[in-house]
Amino acid sequence: MLGKLVDLLYPPSPYCSICGEHYTKWDQPPVCRYCWEEVIKIREPVCRICGKPLGLTHKGTICTQCQRHTYHFKKNCALGAYDGALREILHLLKYKNKKQLAVPLGELLAERVTEQPWSTAVQAIIPVPLHWQRYGQRGYNQAALLAQEIGRLLHITVCEDVLYRYKRTRPQSKVIHDQRFQNVRNAFRVKNKQKVFQKTLLLVDDIYTTGMTLNECAGVLKAAGSDSIYSATVAIGC
Ligand SMILES: [Zn+2]
Ligand SMILES: [Zn+2]
Repeated sequence: MLGKLVDLLYPPSPYCSICGEHYTKWDQPPVCRYCWEEVIKIREPVCRICGKPLGLTHKGTICTQCQRHTYHFKKNCALGAYDGALREILHLLKYKNKKQLAVPLGELLAERVTEQPWSTAVQAIIPVPLHWQRYGQRGYNQAALLAQEIGRLLHITVCEDVLYRYKRTRPQSKVIHDQRFQNVRNAFRVKNKQKVFQKTLLLVDDIYTTGMTLNECAGVLKAAGSDSIYSATVAIGC
């Protein structure tokens, strides 16, 4: 009822939010199918730890960044490169209130997760949380929306009352590489530990950059007694 009233007052735009073209009947607003087709999905060879694409000239199966670090999570998988159409779709999801995009993105990411040999071991899904102030501004956590969609499709419980962000961190994309570890350090805490105790978990977030956020989350979950931790992100960038 309220939705219909809102539609009347603010009719949805008849144009794709990315390319500005008129929709056809096959499109699902706010993004047309041509723009969806522009999403660059990651193909093998990828780093077997973080899931970043490896250049064809790269030697070995681990990227240079993962060779230098050890993580609390075992592996990450990502749907696409943080670039072009996917970057714009994520921008709409995060900053333009286009929450409905979490459904098709969640579907694609769930598909990517099921391709992973470890996917059948996952017992609970944990979204990377926002700080409550940012949650208040945005009204939703995009990672939680994605996690809910994946949980629904893969029939896995999503726990939103386990991981909390206590420190208001700056977006990792706005912090220079060397400071990203410090930025998220001690930012997260775990409540309701019994829900993750000795469990294999899947962390869900929108973007993987250096992996420091996911690493920090996985670290506190491990300290709370979790077993193996994997992660899935819609996009992966540098
Ligand atoms: Zn379009
Ligand atoms: Zn890597």
